[in-house]
Amino acid sequence: MPETLKTQLAVIGAGPGGYAAAFHAADLGLQVTLLDVQPNPGGTCLYRGCIPSKALLHVAKLITDAREAEEWGLTFAPPQMDLDKMRRRTGQVIEQMTGGLGQLCRARKVAYLRARATFMTSHRLAVFHEDGSEDTLEAEYVIIATGSRPALFGPLIKSDRLMNSTNALQIDRIPSTLLVIGGGYIGLELGSVYAALGAKVTVVEAGDMLLAGADRDLVAPLEKRLEHTFEEVLLKTKVADMREQEDGMRVQFEGEGVSAEPRIFDKVLVCVGRKPNSRGLNLADTAIETDNKGFILVDAQRRTAEPHIFAIGDVAGQPMLAHKASAEGKVAAGAIAGKKTAFEPQAIPAVVFTDPEIAWCGETENSAREKGLSVHIARFPWAASGRASTLSRSDGLTKILVDAETSQIIGMGIAGSGAGELISEGALAIEMGAVAEDLDMTIHPHPTLSETVMESAAAIFGQSTHIYRPARKTDK
Ligand code: NAD
Repeated sequence: MPETLKTQLAVIGAGPGGYAAAFHAADLGLQVTLLDVQPNPGGTCLYRGCIPSKALLHVAKLITDAREAEEWGLTFAPPQMDLDKMRRRTGQVIEQMTGGLGQLCRARKVAYLRARATFMTSHRLAVFHEDGSEDTLEAEYVIIATGSRPALFGPLIKSDRLMNSTNALQIDRIPSTLLVIGGGYIGLELGSVYAALGAKVTVVEAGDMLLAGADRDLVAPLEKRLEHTFEEVLLKTKVADMREQEDGMRVQFEGEGVSAEPRIFDKVLVCVGRKPNSRGLNLADTAIETDNKGFILVDAQRRTAEPHIFAIGDVAGQPMLAHKASAEGKVAAGAIAGKKTAFEPQAIPAVVFTDPEIAWCGETENSAREKGLSVHIARFPWAASGRASTLSRSDGLTKILVDAETSQIIGMGIAGSGAGELISEGALAIEMGAVAEDLDMTIHPHPTLSETVMESAAAIFGQSTHIYRPARKTDK
């Protein structure tokens, strides 16, 4: 018999947005029901995104580190790969993390329903449980945190040779050749994994650069390394035709300077962006509005056109990043609990976990130019960093953007090993309204890569200890 359940707050979707919102709301005293089809909270990030891909990138790093140890006089035999064991280990990481989130749910008394939900009315949800039964859930408040899914590309070919970002994580065999369509976050991260495992990787990107949106000088060290890692990177190129034949996927390219002659790839990985999961929620029976791409429209508190319904994370707009979703979740939960909250970050860090990593936050050189901001920019090349030399990774760059008048830090970009860890100092500096002197005068431990942040700030004033710029005639 279908039941009518009641809850103060229903959170639809238990990814990093949904579970952060649910936990925070429970901590603020609300009675919360969290719904997701997976056995535990975790969402795309834990089950088929950030965490499994980073586990595989760790494997890739072990392989390349072992190979590059040769320059230090250490030679290892080529790796033996047990793909079953690799998958099992990744699975264990996922299970451990999602299981932990399940425990946190129980500890906070958040009711977790393994179910899919759609709106019947703006206060009523139809709940479809995993076991096939159905209930109705009446909720005073709702947070929609349903995330996104991979965008489809071209003809809908059903083939084991065609992968998206989800099934590419289940490495059942290493393809001899792999075509990656899309030179964005996912294409470069997963392409790097497959290349380290031994596949010959070709990347085809429609735009004129990899990682569109990131500053050119930050992408340059990555492009240089990818020249050796990947077989080929084809920019300003699209796939004109793709079909499966016995010996592989037959692909025809169109673009600048590309041969029209078809080429055969063992496998193809499509990563041309992601789409918000707003369809299938039956939003038509509510006043909630979406834009033409399907993103739910929200205000600064992440409130939709229905005052008691909020939307957070990928479904509520760019950037589609887990940490942005979590931060929005806390804002929405706070608003529901009656707190004065707003989602107004000055800096949302972006990290591409390639080798080297690329990370940035706040304004980029591109965005500053587009907004007509008057900025001073200083760069500290890692060739001048002792720590980078000891790691054989002098190929990095740390860059800082400050307001030309006040020296207030408004942006930071880092390319290099571990950039993803280092960028948080930039985010904190921006959020706290720090000026370049603050970073310059903060004593950073030696020898670390974090010194490059301090030295980039020093370079704003002309010189930094490990770089000497001869005075130009125009310098005072
Ligand atoms: P993306 O938007 O980063 O890159 C897609 C790329 O595909 C773009 O450069 C685009 O120009 C290109 N493209 C589109 N159509 C094409 C075509 N027909 N032929 C060739 N190229 C084409 O998208 P993604 O890599 O799929 O990642 C999706 C989202 O997931 C990203 O927006 C990102 O926010 C998120 N993500 C983040 C991380 C991270 O934080 N490290 C990792 C993975 C994914």
